[in-house]
This record gives sequence, C-alpha cells and structure tokens, in this order.
Amino acid sequence: MRHQAFANGTNCPVCGTRCSSIRADQLTPQVREVTYLCRNPKCTCQFVASIAPVRVIMPSQLPPTAALQGTPTAFLSAAQPA
Ligand SMILES: [Zn+2]
Repeated sequence: MRHQAFANGTNCPVCGTRCSSIRADQLTPQVREVTYLCRNPKCTCQFVASIAPVRVIMPSQLPPTAALQGTPTAFLSAAQPA
C-alpha cells in the first residue's frame, strides 16, 4: 500500500486563511491539541484544534496487549483482532 503524506495544517475558521501551528500539547497518548495562529494580518485569530483517532481504516497488526493505556474499548474492538 502506498501512503501519501499531508501537511496537518488547517484554515482559519473565521476568514479561511491558512494558519500556522504555534503550539502542540499531547493531552493523552491518543489526543493532541494544536494551537493555530491565522496568517492573515488583519485577522490573527488564535484557536485550539484537537487531533484524535475517530475510526479504524485498517486494524492494527499488534496483539491486544500492546494497546496504549486509555485507548477506548470501542475503538480497540475495531482496531485489533479479538
Ligand atoms: Zn483568520
């Protein structure tokens, strides 16, 4: 399978201009918060976005015991073999 890399930037929710990430905090092993700054000098909105897994595309090949602490059970049931 080929993987394509994407920049994980985002656009300003107010004016739509591309934003710069200015801070990132790993809240839990599964959840990361990124602080963005709008590059539009007339806007300069700052906001926090959350990055977390929402669904499984391909199950993990690791045994269930390898799951990180705090991974939701419902997510694991789809992500790993029983
Ligand atoms: Zn903006």
